[in-house]
Amino acid sequence: MSRIMIVEDEADMAMGLQDNLQFEGYEVLIAKDGEEALKKVRAWRPDLVLLDIMLPKMDGFEVCREIRGMGMTIPILMLTARGQEIDKVRGLELGADDYVTKPFGVRELLARIKAGLRRGSGAGITSRHVKIGSAEVDLVKGHITRGRKSFSLGHYEIEILKMLLEQVEQPVARNEMLQTIWGIEGFPTDRTVDNHIVSLRRKIESNAKQPQHILTVQRVGYKLVP
Ligand code: CA
Repeated sequence: MSRIMIVEDEADMAMGLQDNLQFEGYEVLIAKDGEEALKKVRAWRPDLVLLDIMLPKMDGFEVCREIRGMGMTIPILMLTARGQEIDKVRGLELGADDYVTKPFGVRELLARIKAGLRRGSGAGITSRHVKIGSAEVDLVKGHITRGRKSFSLGHYEIEILKMLLEQVEQPVARNEMLQTIWGIEGFPTDRTVDNHIVSLRRKIESNAKQPQHILTVQRVGYKLVP
């Protein structure tokens, strides 16, 4: 049985999510703020974290960074409120895997959770260290170092990189990525892939605005030139 941790300060929202997830057979634990979340994530080792961005004390972005800083690669799904102006790429840069916008349908959320857990099971992850330009990428630890900078990778970023690495210097279509990585259940859009690519470029490229390694292939998708 998969364990899901909900990090949300609004009690009604947290309880509602808990009921739905327990009904689906998940084990659920609620954390009311970031500090509690970090303690519980260490002790309880959830398989996936549902992380609200608007939290007291420490916001969701910070919690995400701390979790990745502990070297944990569990899937993190960020919850955002509609109309809330947030930089989605920022969350991805900090190692979040996906976003769900409130209010969301239960079916959509469950699909995203299933997709996240599938990623998180580590299926297919090989012990590969790769070098892309001046970036050293550890696909197992989900970690990139470039010069003195280091970055955490989310699961989807790892999966995208792996697909690009399997077909080096050949275009990989966005649709192919969406189907292979997210599956049709995940309700992704083309922007989903693009947001992850923006985030990947910021980590890998010395100048993300003029990428040398993760290149756009017009009307198709992307290709990797290591
Ligand atoms: Ca909240």
